[in-house]
Amino acid sequence: MNERLARACALAGRDARTVALLAVSKTFGPDAVQQALAAGQRAFGENYIQEGVEKILALRASRPGAAIEWHCIGPIQSNKTRLVAAHFDWVQSVDRIKIAQRLSEQRPAGMAPLQVCLQVNVDGGPTKSGVAPAELPALAEAVALLPQLRLRGLMCIPEPAASFEAQRVVFLQARTLFDALNARGFGLDTLSMGMSDDLEAAVAAGSTMVRVGRAVFGSRTALPEPSNRSSV
Ligand SMILES: *Cc1c(COP(=O)(O)O)cnc(C)c1O
Repeated sequence: MNERLARACALAGRDARTVALLAVSKTFGPDAVQQALAAGQRAFGENYIQEGVEKILALRASRPGAAIEWHCIGPIQSNKTRLVAAHFDWVQSVDRIKIAQRLSEQRPAGMAPLQVCLQVNVDGGPTKSGVAPAELPALAEAVALLPQLRLRGLMCIPEPAASFEAQRVVFLQARTLFDALNARGFGLDTLSMGMSDDLEAAVAAGSTMVRVGRAVFGSRTALPEPSNRSSV
């Protein structure tokens, strides 16, 4: 996977150190995370809160002190914010102020602030998750004020598109929103976009973090996927 990412960066004329790899371990057990850890991977993404927390606790028990960074990348219901605030380092799927407020209030004292990306519905896709682009600036302003959150950037999950160019066009819309917020002084450093099927186009459009599941861990097809988007 690292070679594929390096190639995508080279093709885009970018330094490979400017694009982080988030290994999406959803549906895979703690053993798969252990193996990736042994291979040098440090950042892992989980979609389903309960499953993610169980894995975080399993890894904390089996590898105490291991420097693992856990990212929540799935939809968050109000009744799950406490779990997220207590266990994850990052949340990339914040798309409304109510969830952000709860996460800030429930972040335990003594933990570093939660690192946050706002999920944007760039292409207006039927996946209902993500703030509409027109409402993004107001949400960013409100989230930036919350004491236990640190706003880092944007995340998007476009609908699958057939060609590299079609994928790139949508990712460039996210890039434009990201640049516009930074032009207003937000100081964002994370543009999380690109998955197994479209990471080259995302890197070409300026992604700083690709979230990759199947191309790292293999197929998930044997398992049901209660995701907020249909699996490709
Ligand atoms: C599952 C998932 C990914 C990884 O998808 P792959 O196609 O397996 O690379 C990335 N981001 C989110 C939000 C996901 O739910």
